[in-house]
Amino acid sequence: MNNRIDILQCSKDEHVKTRLKAQLAEWTAVFPPSKTASIFIKLNLNSDMNALTGNTTDLRIVIAVIEFLKDIGYSKIVIGDGTNFGFAKNGINVIKRLNIDKVGKRYGVKVVDLNQSDGVQIDLSGVKAMVARECVETDFFINIPKLKTHFEAWMSICLKNLVGCLIGKEKRKAHVDLRKGIFHLNTAIKTHLHIVDGLIAMEGFGPSRGVPVNLGTIIIGKNPFYIDTLCARLAGFSAEQVPVLAYAKEAGIIEKGWDKEIDRILKDYKIIKLKPPVTNIAVKFILRSDVQRLINICRNAKWFKYLMATGPMGWALYGLGIRQDAFSSDALEWGGGLAARDISRCGDCTKCADYCPLDLKLPADFNPQECIECLYCFMVCRKNVIEFKGKLGFVEGYLKKYGETIKKIC
Ligand code: SF4
Ligand code: SF4
Repeated sequence: MNNRIDILQCSKDEHVKTRLKAQLAEWTAVFPPSKTASIFIKLNLNSDMNALTGNTTDLRIVIAVIEFLKDIGYSKIVIGDGTNFGFAKNGINVIKRLNIDKVGKRYGVKVVDLNQSDGVQIDLSGVKAMVARECVETDFFINIPKLKTHFEAWMSICLKNLVGCLIGKEKRKAHVDLRKGIFHLNTAIKTHLHIVDGLIAMEGFGPSRGVPVNLGTIIIGKNPFYIDTLCARLAGFSAEQVPVLAYAKEAGIIEKGWDKEIDRILKDYKIIKLKPPVTNIAVKFILRSDVQRLINICRNAKWFKYLMATGPMGWALYGLGIRQDAFSSDALEWGGGLAARDISRCGDCTKCADYCPLDLKLPADFNPQECIECLYCFMVCRKNVIEFKGKLGFVEGYLKKYGETIKKIC
């Protein structure tokens, strides 16, 4: 079972959670024999952009996994991530904005922000770094990354997602030479199962400035190096284009025969060519490891911190493409509620129900008491039958940027 990889390509109207749970049943043998074992589920909460933008883990997958684990008897389940530290520094709680806290409350599972965790020191080939205790002291580690292009790492899938295990600004230590940093994180932290969210992936200038693409795919396996190689090929890239995979090949972690095995596996699947994360000269310069080293030396200097914290500098870096996120925390929390109006216009559409992670009976029986306010139903409705009453706040910018694309691809 070690190198087994399952690829689920879901059709647009397929119930994703049912399909995933049925497939997970085939993996029951890999889970710990004791039902009191602790299970940590590492999400990919890169920013406050929800899963339909292609940036973060889809709640349909997260909830399907939690429901599956509970159904087979596990009770000590923890979910979380060490979200992009820039948000935390700017006073933005990504876990709250993505409603992960509401998922935890509804399912009785603990939610952790790994940036706030106790640290355990690991060795990234000579560099000591602190990772969150939950990531190394759990009995069973499930990694659920989003499949997306990434301007620094080419692709962010299983291997890159472990950077989120590093606490707060410790993440920078992996960025000095990102391919080595990611590689050593994955040899230092023991993971047990990977479930790649390739439902709505991202192409182009990812992780947060690319374009969402509906791949409708979930990939399950145990070996993150093999899964990432397969995902790169599935997305139309070669393994060599992804620096950490090229490095792992050189290190002999990925066996030569694996390419042939991938050819064999992929012959029955549709390859979707994602647009690459093409970068400009400024970004290429900043990503050089000598420049990264220099930045790390300056990072603790007062003048550097002051300069970086200023608004104009933030926007200048964003404009140059060096920074992926423009952090803005002023009065941007959203609040309000959803309601479905005039459902006679729905015809035979079931889209909102297909996307609801809680399987609420939409649109007719919308129940605000049960809803976790993920907004998936609102965002996928092409006829604007589902309305939002209140302040969209930070979501508004993402709707402007991705709203039409999401309605088109979902
Ligand atoms: S009803 Fe809509 S907003 Fe509420 S949980 Fe379901 S999809 Fe999310
Ligand atoms: S997505 Fe919109 S049109 Fe489709 S069933 Fe739901 S409310 Fe009706």
